Amino acid sequence: MIRFRPHHFLCTYNFRGKGYSPSFITNYQQVIQRLEKEPIEIVNSSDSICAPCPHRRGGMCQSEARIRTLDRRHEEAFGFGKGPIFWKEARAKIEKHFSIALMRKTCDGCSWLKICEEINENA
Ligand code: SF4
Repeated sequence: MIRFRPHHFLCTYNFRGKGYSPSFITNYQQVIQRLEKEPIEIVNSSDSICAPCPHRRGGMCQSEARIRTLDRRHEEAFGFGKGPIFWKEARAKIEKHFSIALMRKTCDGCSWLKICEEINENA
């Protein structure tokens, strides 16, 4: 089953082929291809997106405290629940609540925020 930390739902919504490394991007694209058919388990540790990330340290991120804050904010803002959840349902929750102003709050502290703002400003 695909595994997502809560903040990775919005990351996936915003994914446009950029990432930390070529292997990270390739893995991300492979996970996205599975989203149509497979449910997503919601986890509080390294997930299917994190697998090849250079910042992963075993089951955690090297910035685990900051990432847990991101996860909590995203869970509260979009209400993904305990899971499992299909991408179609998760995407609908994002579309129901999404605004750039909300993203600036939920994603505060993420180094990719500027890029995600540009994606949505130009959408
Ligand atoms: S700003 Fe960061 S946490 Fe928020 S959606 Fe973009 S990559 Fe994900």
